[in-house]
Amino acid sequence: MGDRILFWHRRDLRLHDNLGLAAARARSPQVTGVFCLDPGILHRDDVAPVRVAYLMNCLAALQGRYAAAGGELLILQGSPAQVLPNLAQVIAVTALYWNRDVEPYARDRDTHVAAACKEQGIEIKTTFWDQLLCAPGAVLTGTGSPYTVYGPFWRNWCTQAKAPPELEPTNFEGLSPAERERANAAGAMPLPSTTDLGFSWDQPLPVEPGEGAALQQLEAFCSQDQAIGAYDEQRNFPFALGTSRLSAALKFGVIGIRTVWAAAAEAMERCRSDETRQSVTTWQQELAWREFYQHVMYFFPQLATGPYRPQWQNFPWVNDEAQFQAWCAGRTGYPIVDAAMRQLNETGWMHNRCRMIVASFLTKDLIIDWRWGEKYFMQTLVDGDLSANNGGWQWSASSGMDPKPLRIFNPASQAKKFDPEAEYIRQWLPEIRHLDTGELVSGVLSPLSRQQTGYPAPIVDHKRQQALFKEKYKGQKG
Ligand SMILES: Cc1cc2nc3c(=O)[nH]c(=O)nc-3n(C[C@H](O)[C@H](O)[C@H](O)COP(=O)(O)OP(=O)(O)OC[C@H]3O[C@@H](n4cnc5c(N)ncnc54)[C@H](O)[C@@H]3O)c2cc1C
Repeated sequence: MGDRILFWHRRDLRLHDNLGLAAARARSPQVTGVFCLDPGILHRDDVAPVRVAYLMNCLAALQGRYAAAGGELLILQGSPAQVLPNLAQVIAVTALYWNRDVEPYARDRDTHVAAACKEQGIEIKTTFWDQLLCAPGAVLTGTGSPYTVYGPFWRNWCTQAKAPPELEPTNFEGLSPAERERANAAGAMPLPSTTDLGFSWDQPLPVEPGEGAALQQLEAFCSQDQAIGAYDEQRNFPFALGTSRLSAALKFGVIGIRTVWAAAAEAMERCRSDETRQSVTTWQQELAWREFYQHVMYFFPQLATGPYRPQWQNFPWVNDEAQFQAWCAGRTGYPIVDAAMRQLNETGWMHNRCRMIVASFLTKDLIIDWRWGEKYFMQTLVDGDLSANNGGWQWSASSGMDPKPLRIFNPASQAKKFDPEAEYIRQWLPEIRHLDTGELVSGVLSPLSRQQTGYPAPIVDHKRQQALFKEKYKGQKG
C-alpha cells in the first residue's frame, strides 16, 4: 500500500500554482482532492446565489482537471470536522493537507478538523500560505506589530521577495474501484447543481468560471498595453472595461496569486513609458490592498463583526428600513447610485468606483449602518469576500483603519468625473436613458422627466444629510 494523501480544497480551486497541493504531490502520486459543501457556510444568510453558481462551475472544472491528470476530486457534504476524518479513515489515508486561511470561521473550523484528525491518528500538514504573496506576520512594523495603515504596509510589502508560481502537479494515481466504493459509502457524492443546493441563478455568470478561463483572463489583461498599461486612468470609469475582473477567481483561488504577480512583473518588464509603469504599479497596489485586508483580518478578527474605530461602536445611525430597501433596489433617485445597484442586482458584480459611491451614499447620505450594506454586498456579489468587503465598507464608512476619517462622496460630482457622458447610467437605467446627459449626471431631473419616466425623486437631500452626518460625527467624537 502506498502513501495515500487527501488534499482538502477550500479557496484554492485549481491544480496550477497551489502550494499545499504541490507539497502533497511531491510526497506521493496518490493524492486525492476533496471539497466539502459545508452547511456552516451554505446555510448562512449572506450567501449570494451567483457566488454559489460560480463555485459549482469552478468545482466542475476542477474535477475535469483532476480527471485529465489521472486523479479525482471527491465532493462531500457536511461538517468538515466529521466528514473529512471519516473519509480519511475509510480510504486509509496517511495524511490530510490543506492551505491556510485568514478568516475567523475558517480558522475555527480548521482547529476542529485538526483535533478530529489527531484523535484518529491522521497526520495533518497545514503550514501553507497559498492565497497570499506575504504570509501574515511576514510584514510587520519596526516594533514587530501588524500594520493598521495601508500606506506603510504597501511600502514594506512591495520590498518583500515574492515566490514564483508553483509548478502544476501531474500524473496522479487515482483511487482503486474498491477505494472509490468505500469513499462513496462514506458520503462522496456527484457534484450537485446550484439548484440542488437551494439557490437559483438564471443569468449568465459575470465572469467565466474555472482555472483555464481565469488564466486566459489574466493573460489577456496583463499582455495588453490598453489593459494593464492603461489601468491607472481606465480603472476609474465604470463604463470602460478597464479592470482585470479577476476578483472572483482570486477569492476562490481559481488562480494562484504568485501566477498573478509574475504576470504583472512581466508586464512591468515590457513597459516602455513612465505612464505604463505607473499603471502596472497601481494594479500591484490593488493586489496589496487585498493582502492588507487579509492581514488585518488575521490579526484583528474582531473586524469581522464590528468597527475598528471605538467611537463607531455606538454611532447613532438612522437606519431607515424603507430607505435601505430603496438603496438595495436601485430606487434612490440618484442615477449613479441606482445604476450601480442595478448592475449589482442584475449581474452579481459592481465596478470598484461604484462600490465606493454606493457605500458612501448608504453610510453618509442615508446614515445607515455600514454592516447592512456589507451584508447586502455579500448576498449579491460573485466575489463577496469577508476581508475585502469588510475592509471596503469600513474604509467607506470611515470606521476602519484609514487615517483620513471623513470621506463623503458627492454622487453628482462622482458621476460628472467618472461617467461624464452618462454611458454607465444609461446602460443600467433604461427607463431614463433618453434624457439629457446633464440631467442624468447631475441627478436633477425636470418634473416632466420624472412624471414621464416614473423615476423616483431623490429620497434624501445630499447637502442636508452631509450636514446631519457631520453633526452626528462631531457628537460622537466629543
Ligand atoms: C464597499 C466595497 C466592498 C468591496 N467588496 C469586495 C469583495 O467582497 N470582494 C472583493 O474581491 N473586492 C471587494 N472590493 C474591492 C474591489 O471593489 C474589487 O476587488 C474590484 O472591484 C474587483 O474588480 P477587478 O477584479 O476588476 O479588480 P482590479 O481593479 O483588476 O484589481 C485586481 C485585484 O486586486 C484586488 N483588489 C482590488 N481593489 C481592492 C480593494 N479595494 N480591496 C481589496 N482588494 C482589492 C482584487 O482581488 C482584484 O481582483 C470592495 C470595495 C468596496 C469599496
